[in-house]
Amino acid sequence: MKQTNGQQIISLFEQWAPKSLAVEGDSIGLQIGTLNKSVSKVLVTLDVNSKVVKEAIEQQCELIIAHHPPIFRGMKHMRTDLPQGSLIEQLIKHDIAVYAAHTNLDIATGGVNDLLANALQLENVKILEQTTAEKLMKLAVFTPKESTEQVRIALGNVGAGQIGDYGNCSFTSDGEGRFKPSLSADPYIGKANELAIVAEDKVEVVFPASIKNRILRALLTVHPYEEPAYDLFILETEINEKGLGRIGTLPTPVRLSEYAQTVKKQLHVPFVRVVGELDKLVQKVAVLGGDGNKYIQTAKRAGADVFITGDMYFHVAQDAEAMDLAVIDPGHHMEQIMKDGVTDYMNAACIEKKLACTFIPSKLSTEPFQFI
Ligand SMILES: [Zn+2]
Repeated sequence: MKQTNGQQIISLFEQWAPKSLAVEGDSIGLQIGTLNKSVSKVLVTLDVNSKVVKEAIEQQCELIIAHHPPIFRGMKHMRTDLPQGSLIEQLIKHDIAVYAAHTNLDIATGGVNDLLANALQLENVKILEQTTAEKLMKLAVFTPKESTEQVRIALGNVGAGQIGDYGNCSFTSDGEGRFKPSLSADPYIGKANELAIVAEDKVEVVFPASIKNRILRALLTVHPYEEPAYDLFILETEINEKGLGRIGTLPTPVRLSEYAQTVKKQLHVPFVRVVGELDKLVQKVAVLGGDGNKYIQTAKRAGADVFITGDMYFHVAQDAEAMDLAVIDPGHHMEQIMKDGVTDYMNAACIEKKLACTFIPSKLSTEPFQFI
């Protein structure tokens, strides 16, 4: 196991939940302290409060990863006689850095919303509200016949031709290529100032726009021509869709009252608020961690029978009732599921990379409400 530092740990984390996934204006990333230091223990928490800071100190953690950013609205001062300033003071004094992963962790594949969908036993899970997607690109390259195979293999090796569950997809057609090398050229085939006619193949592959440079590097490395001829197209097709919330189905329809009990148990919450006829059968379930007030129309349009989200407002609950969309509100604290989710994911990633760093979930509840 290798000693590691904050930068390495966070770059490993961001391979999973890149900052670019976050919704505009979100407060994410390093908020307090520095990542330029060695890190061997990381505390994962939903919120950072004074008790969590105490826990981090006792556990000798050099870094906290929090879902809710402790600095969310613009700070106008850092007074250590006020709660927020005092919190930051404690963290700085004990050299504990705080990194916030908010909507990027909600959106990430395997992040908060996928963890919730999994706990809620949903099948055929899809994104509820798409926030980003990538364009698919196509490369059409002309190769002398003897090089076609090696070009196809090289492109496949760097990820070209992935279509759903199928890899190394390509199409080859044959034809005739013509070119006249100039006097300063160093042609692989043909002679200067003479028109060459060569039996060539055209190889076509698709790939996500984000790996274009890797694809072109691989192509230029193996292609035998001094100036390979190729066309690049941006396609209308979108892939790698990411987004907020998830929608899926239960294996069999269940009564809303029964499913509310399942939600309570699975999300480890002491109570849930329910909107809708308790005897109604539900099967299609939408879930969105945190505050989902803005998404009741989206859930309804997507065909959800029931929408599971936190912080439901009185009037929004009435709107949901009027549109015959059942709602189960387990409270915002349901997002605590991220503590074990991030801990498990990052411990596995550190073991794989042989990094001497342990993640632990906070043992504290940051639920501000008591239910009496
Ligand atoms: Zn939240």
